[in-house]
Order: sequence, then structure tokens, then C-alpha cells
Amino acid sequence: MKHLLDQLGTGLPEFLRNAGLPEYRARQVRRWLFAGRATDFATMTDLPAALRESLATEFSIWTTEVVAHRQANDETEKLLLQLADGNRIECVLIREGDRRTCCISTQVGCAMGCVFCASGLEGVVRNLTTGEILEQLLRLQQLLPADERLTHIVVMGMGEPLANLDRLLPALAWATSPEGLGISGRRVTISTVGLPAALRRLAAEKHPYHLAVSLHAPNDALRSQLVPVNKSAGLSDVVAAADEYFAANGRRLTFEYVLLGDVNDRPEHARQLVALLRERTAMVNVIPYNPVAGLPYRTPSDEAVERFVGLVRGGGIEVQVRVRKGDQIDAACGQLRRSLATTAPVALS
Ligand code: SAH
Repeated sequence: MKHLLDQLGTGLPEFLRNAGLPEYRARQVRRWLFAGRATDFATMTDLPAALRESLATEFSIWTTEVVAHRQANDETEKLLLQLADGNRIECVLIREGDRRTCCISTQVGCAMGCVFCASGLEGVVRNLTTGEILEQLLRLQQLLPADERLTHIVVMGMGEPLANLDRLLPALAWATSPEGLGISGRRVTISTVGLPAALRRLAAEKHPYHLAVSLHAPNDALRSQLVPVNKSAGLSDVVAAADEYFAANGRRLTFEYVLLGDVNDRPEHARQLVALLRERTAMVNVIPYNPVAGLPYRTPSDEAVERFVGLVRGGGIEVQVRVRKGDQIDAACGQLRRSLATTAPVALS
């Protein structure tokens, strides 16, 4: 069976054409999926019964299984999804005021090797398909009551999105299409370690998406230690490629900076960061480290966070500290997958 969410653009219309059916049937199916939140073909009641049956023999809508569903006091919800091949990925729904933000994964594991991150500890297993990326969005949408909709997407789950652009971009195209989820492209943030060639491709294609570049260090020596892929890319080219993206779409850049106690939180790091980003239309998003079991890093004290933020702000750079959400449900950074790695599927809570 084919994964319908992977076949929305070509496979589905082709199937209909071969069956001698009009093209608008494809739009109807998509409307049922994205706006109607249909979970099976049987409920697509304005399609002829025979078509519903033949669609059901040709396509499956879902390929994942919800292995765990956690809800935190702050209403953050996290799903651990098991893919058809047994691999597991995470996605998160974050509620903040009127915002309904979904955080999605793009790969099983990650090849970037950031030394503080749970997702990449065992390397990358494979890219997710477009359908698997879309399926996360639809599953998260199903957690919302009928009168609420997803408003924002952050591609900040497991994996390096720029290493899987060919599958991510079609998924985002459906997410932002009026025929899909209708989320504004300006409300999509792609978080990347900063692969220069892929950044330049994104810039050339003129996407509306907001870019967040995971910097984590203000000089090459420290960045190569924390973000090993930096050894080949190099900080200055990463920042130059980010500048090109800014020049192409005009969206202010965000630079993420995971603050690791006594590693990259010293005053000289703040000053170097100011020197690096001065003259840029950029914001620094400071993320106090979220501890990962078995890793030697620690969360800096509140004073250390304040000192760092004060120095960066004092240097004229806009900075904010990311509020941690969903800590108690292992919502951050591949942690639920790890904590449940050896357990059998658990019931929905
Ligand atoms: N590969 C993408 C997405 C990663 S997740 C990227 O590198 O940007 C989104 C952000 O969370 C990244 O900035 C990542 O470095 C950060 N992160 C990973 N593990 C973390 C942890 N344990 N605590 C805090 N932030 C973490």
C-alpha cells in the first residue's frame, strides 16, 4: 500500500486519472485530510462509495502508530510515533496564548553529532519521507479541539532539516498551502545547524520561512568541539550563508545558543558573540541546557544566564531566553525516544 500523505501531489491525481475520475476528487480527499481531519476513507462522505473503497485498497493514510502520548502541566503534549519500519520519532504540540505550535522531526536520529544533544547520540538512521513529516502535523492537529487550528510550525525536532530538504520542502508546501493546513509560511521556523550549501539553496528558492541557526559558540575552536560538523563548514561561511538567506527573504535571523555551564557561557564568549553578530539584523535565542542523562554537561546557574544575556544585550544585540516547556515529559530534544527506547509500547494516557 502506498502512503497517501506521500502521494498527494502526483500519485493521488494519477490514480484518479487512471480510474477515469475527475481531478477535483483529489482536492476533495485533501480537504478531508487537512481541514476535515478525516482518519479514514469511509468518513469522506462526499466521495462515491466505490471510490472510497478503491482508495482504501490502494492507499493507507497512516503509517505511524502512537507509542506514547504525554501531556505536561503547561499543556505541552508530546507524541512518540513508531514508523512502519519500527523506528521511532517525536513530535510536540506547544500551547502559548493563542499560538498552537507544532515541533516536528525530519530524520530518525541525526548525523550532526552535537555533543550535548540526545537526538544524535547514535547517529542518523534515515531521512523521514514527506508523508511521515506531514503525518506528524496531522496527528498533532488531531489533539486540538475542532475550533482550534495549528498556527505555527517549528522544525526543531529530531534530525537536521537541511540534510533532508527534498522531503521537508514538499511537506511544508502542503502545510502552508490554502489547500493544505493553510499555515502562513512566515509562521514556519526551520532550525538548522547551518549547512552552507543547503542554506544557499533555500535562499535561492526564496522561501518565506524563518530561519534559526544553531550557533552555540562564537569561535571556530569551541564550535567545532560542540557542533562537530562545524569542522567542515566553519563559522564564517555558516554566518555568510545565513546572511544570504536574510538578503533573499528579509526575515530577521535567529541564532540559537544553547548555554552549557562553564563551557560556552563565559563573559568572553558573550563578547565574541557580540563581535560576530554586530551589524546584523539578528536575534539571539539563548537556550539553557536541558540535561540529557549520561552526558557530562550541566545547566548554567540563573546568574550565569543573566550575566551572559546582559553582556550580549549590552553589546546591542537583541536576545531572549527560551522558556522551557514540557520538561517533565521529556519534551526536549529526542529525550522521550531515549527514555522509552527499551520499553514496550505503553497505553495512551
Ligand atoms: N538540527 C537542528 C534542529 C535541532 S533541535 C539544529 O541543529 O538546529 C533545536 C535546537 O535545540 C538546536 O539549537 C539544538 O542544538 C538544541 N538542543 C539540542 N539538544 C539540546 C539540549 N539538551 N538542551 C537544549 N537545547 C538543545
